[in-house]
Amino acid sequence: MRLSGKVAMITGGSHGIGQAVAILFAREGAKVALCGRGKAALDETVKQIVETGGEALAYEADVSDKAQVDRFVDGVVGRWGRIDIAVNNAGICEIASFLDIAEEQWDRHMNINLKGAFLASQRAAREMVRQGGGGSIIQMSSVNGIQAEAGQAHYNTTKGGMINLSMSMALELAVHGIRVNALCPGFIETRLTKPLIDNPPAIADYLRTVPMNRVGQPEEIASAALFLASDESSYMTGTCMVVDGGQLIKLS
Ligand code: NAP
Repeated sequence: MRLSGKVAMITGGSHGIGQAVAILFAREGAKVALCGRGKAALDETVKQIVETGGEALAYEADVSDKAQVDRFVDGVVGRWGRIDIAVNNAGICEIASFLDIAEEQWDRHMNINLKGAFLASQRAAREMVRQGGGGSIIQMSSVNGIQAEAGQAHYNTTKGGMINLSMSMALELAVHGIRVNALCPGFIETRLTKPLIDNPPAIADYLRTVPMNRVGQPEEIASAALFLASDESSYMTGTCMVVDGGQLIKLS
């Protein structure tokens, strides 16, 4: 098992990519702590992990609220004494053309996707520095952090910000043995992408941009996160790992 004895915290671990990461990390021996806003989905994820012999805890917490993030991290450290891995995965994406983005919508994306990643990363990094021995922090960015997609200027901006947050943290935290990397998924089948997947003409059109001509699965992102979390990536920090079926290499 590649994460034996490690404690991992995963924001947004109750659905989609975060849930797949939580399940895989637990299978690889980590104790996993999840947070999200919806209690039922958190409980269901913990149940799945525990039923297969893993250890998991869940906390209702909104990552855009510092007090709730602190309560989450305090809970994990209170229970398991440390944090070795942090995956900042909680995120939202609402479609709106640039001319129509409302101020509240802009703020909501900044507060959940970007400020949430900052708050959770900073607390996790402080714990890692305090305990010594390093750690691995993963920012769940996106191909939208590297290239722009129409109708998502607010979302694209948060994901680009997460890549620079990751590099900035990597620069300052390397001295503590803490590695920080961004993971950039392409189009993955989750609750977030369901509206497009459920629209056959639209998804067929979209898949023309993906050389592998298929939607990715959350488990395919979880295995990349496992690599970044484990010692197999021990000389990687400040990088951006793209897992996108080739989408970014295609000019047209
Ligand atoms: P998802 O299925 O909707 O899962 C999002 C998770 O984040 C849920 O557990 C959700 O739980 C949680 N969450 C949302 N807002 C939160 C908040 N304010 N506080 C705490 N938790 C919150 O979406 P997903 O596709 O797995 O996306 C996960 C991450 O991957 C996101 O950051 C997304 O931008 C990124 N990503 C996704 C794709 C894709 O194609 N699916 C591609 C690139 C990047 P609650 O709603 O219960 O809070």
